[in-house]
Amino acid sequence: MDKTDLLRLYPSELEELAVSFGEPAYRGRQISDWLFKGTGPDGMSNLPSAFREKLKNETVFKLPSTERKLVSASDGTVKYLFRLFDGETVESVVMRYKHGLSICISTEVGCPMGCRFCASTIGGKVRDLSASEMVGQVIAASNDIGERISNVVMMGIGEPLDNYEESVRFLRLANQKNGLNIGYRHISLSTCGIVPMIYRLAGEELPVTLSISLHAPDNERRSEIMPVNRRYPLEELMTACRDYFEKSGRRISFEYTLIDGFNDSSPDARLLASLFGKYFSEGGKMYPVHVNLIPVNNVKDKPFRRSNAADAERFKNELIKLGINATLRRHLGADINASCGQLRRESQQDRAE
Ligand code: SAH
Repeated sequence: MDKTDLLRLYPSELEELAVSFGEPAYRGRQISDWLFKGTGPDGMSNLPSAFREKLKNETVFKLPSTERKLVSASDGTVKYLFRLFDGETVESVVMRYKHGLSICISTEVGCPMGCRFCASTIGGKVRDLSASEMVGQVIAASNDIGERISNVVMMGIGEPLDNYEESVRFLRLANQKNGLNIGYRHISLSTCGIVPMIYRLAGEELPVTLSISLHAPDNERRSEIMPVNRRYPLEELMTACRDYFEKSGRRISFEYTLIDGFNDSSPDARLLASLFGKYFSEGGKMYPVHVNLIPVNNVKDKPFRRSNAADAERFKNELIKLGINATLRRHLGADINASCGQLRRESQQDRAE
């Protein structure tokens, strides 16, 4: 039987674990305090040594280790290639904003979704990450930088809704008061649009921001670049988003990569605005949606070129004129290849050579 992974347990489960080891329940809270500092049983100095020894032998505590770390000279963005217990690697990116540090974490090793512009999916999915490995990315990065991380986006390698149970466990763990203590409102989950799981997530009643990777204004083009759209077309996706908004009260955020000559024309801006109008307006009032425009990052071996700065700006302004709240993403970490999946690919290729 697999040993219990400490970092995957809720505080109540750590208390039960302590009791099952013949210790009082409050020991569970002591363990929890240490774990979130990144300290394993060896260093839990306020626990009896026999208990520490037992924990060490009968449970697992493992943080990801840093295989590579790149720091952007221009904006301080830090990108980690983390090595997991079995040698697999994932990426995390820490960005500095006015409101504090935000980390972008991975949820799977590789990705099964096959989006054509994305580096993470090139080799398919290797395995799911455990909630512990997701929490581990936050702790390892925070310890390395020496500062608290106050925001999380699940927007790294992998599709969180394809690894539903562990992703939701991560959300609940990240929110624990005597753990990472990150408010649900400071967490975003990004999905390519696995519709049934969006309904399921809405039912969890966790007020996290849902971010939808949209990338095209109609089914024809979306299916061309995102295979998931053939299974769950825009009508179904938008209806699910509306349900999520109605249940959570959280505005929906849409990611739209701007690809030169593919989805960045003026008619495309109008098509996009009318799509939102169709699903998110009622009685002349628009539900709050936000569109994050991202000039596509060039990925080696992929044919997509980013829209130029003027086109991106025009597209944004057209959306705003049509009443859509749109922003053009600052290109953080441009000098360190900060778009996810690229570092892992590079390191795999290095090893293969
Ligand atoms: N699977 C989830 C989360 C991971 S992808 C999702 O699809 O949302 C994180 C974001 O990066 C998604 O919006 C994805 O579409 C986008 N992305 C992937 N490759 C990109 C590229 N080359 N340039 C810009 N954005 C990209």
